[in-house]
Amino acid sequence: MQRREFFRNAAIGAVGLGSFPVSARCAPLAGGKMGENVYDVAVIGGGTAGTAAAIQAARLGARTLVIESGSQLGGTMTTGGVNFPGLFYAWGKQIISGIGWELVCKTVETHGDSFPDFTAKNLPHWKYQVKLNEYLYACLAEEAALEAGVNLCYYCFPMEISRESAGGANWMISVAARDEVFGVRAKQIIDCTGNASAVHLAGFKRIREDEIQPGTLIFGISNYSLEAVDKAALKKAYAAAIKSGELESSDLWVGIIGVLKEGGFNSQHTLNANSATSELQTRTNISARKSFLRIYRFLKRQKGLENIKIDYVKTEAGVRETYRIEGETVITAEDYASARAYPDSVCYSFYPIDLHVHNTVKPKMLESGKVPCVCLSAMVPKGSRDILAAGRCVSSDRLANSALRVQASCMAMGQAAAVAAALAATEGKSPADLDIGEIRKVLKKHNAIVPNV
Ligand SMILES: Cc1cc2nc3c(=O)[nH]c(=O)nc-3n(C[C@H](O)[C@H](O)[C@H](O)COP(=O)(O)OP(=O)(O)OC[C@H]3O[C@@H](n4cnc5c(N)ncnc54)[C@H](O)[C@@H]3O)c2cc1C
Repeated sequence: MQRREFFRNAAIGAVGLGSFPVSARCAPLAGGKMGENVYDVAVIGGGTAGTAAAIQAARLGARTLVIESGSQLGGTMTTGGVNFPGLFYAWGKQIISGIGWELVCKTVETHGDSFPDFTAKNLPHWKYQVKLNEYLYACLAEEAALEAGVNLCYYCFPMEISRESAGGANWMISVAARDEVFGVRAKQIIDCTGNASAVHLAGFKRIREDEIQPGTLIFGISNYSLEAVDKAALKKAYAAAIKSGELESSDLWVGIIGVLKEGGFNSQHTLNANSATSELQTRTNISARKSFLRIYRFLKRQKGLENIKIDYVKTEAGVRETYRIEGETVITAEDYASARAYPDSVCYSFYPIDLHVHNTVKPKMLESGKVPCVCLSAMVPKGSRDILAAGRCVSSDRLANSALRVQASCMAMGQAAAVAAALAATEGKSPADLDIGEIRKVLKKHNAIVPNV
């Protein structure tokens, strides 16, 4: 039996499709009886974009639910260990603020860390990223979400999403939890899965390339001195290990000296890394951990590195690219690089075009002064109503996506999508039918920076 069929039968087994129980378990809305709870906004995926989206929606008074398949908020930033969000500043000026920035500042300040000098000129782009303690970020993000009144459902994912015209909702979402299948109703959905999974389940198109960028298993190593290592001998041993098959040429995109300089970190590449299904993420994690073991065993055999220690290995490989939605607007690389202003621009995005391949990356910088925009219609799946997609799966061509996918941009998109979804739920409209001026006004009120149009 196919997995999907199994789950479908499980739901039918409970009550029968279309009338499955609307559980109060993850839906503790005050005063609501079982089956009466309707969420204004259901955020699917509580990652980089989803965290900002959920907090924003709830702060606007929307009854907000997060359905997250993992164990905490933050997604790639926390579970994936990509704890260096960029870029909040462009050309010395802040261009992304709002909820993401608020959480970043709180994390840096609480942990006693420091910010880069955003006014310094001509540094490599990654030097303007903010290094965060991701463990604290996950805790603070959760605290902020709960304070705002967000209902969190970890270890859950949607199995089916269908139009629901009864009870004031637009959607019925069938959710798989560890111990049950339950249904929730929602007026608006924001897909923040990074893979456009909810958009796909709701019946709208998503696209991906035949070849996708490699992913990375982030890890930390210590207890060695790079100065004490014979670098020439190490490079020779590294070349021999690749030749013999002990290491793969894609294992270390930063090279053998790079991994030691960085203490591991963002050094590894896993080819065909894909998070779009449980099976693919499982394969990706296994392949990434095999790569990590190859690297670690090789390093430990080298002179001067015998006592090398592992500080951490993230529990999940970070994935750079899978599906993106086909939206009402597609942001192309040309639009991105020329900083095209849209009539419905809602936030900025700033990063070089950053396409990773096999064992390298060659960023393409933006022209001085250019700050690209993201529009609401790039978050609207083509032909849809009442559903938005924010974060990495925003509608864009591949090259534009390689830049739009970065964390500050994902946070800004999440917040903007949430304002649109919450207003749409209140006004009984679809996000695309709202007055864009009203969305911008509310975003500014909540400290977001909105492009002037
Ligand atoms: C190795 C690596 C290095 C990077 N380097 C940088 C960098 O230097 N600077 C930078 O700013 N960005 C960087 N990025 C990009 C950035 O981290 C991601 O693109 C961004 O975090 C994606 O945010 P998101 O909200 O779209 O998705 P995610 O943060 O991945 O969140 C998706 C969430 O949805 C959940 N989910 C997925 N499917 C389902 C489902 N079906 N049901 C329920 N929940 C689901 C996941 O568990 C996750 O919590 C890097 C990415 C990687 C992988």
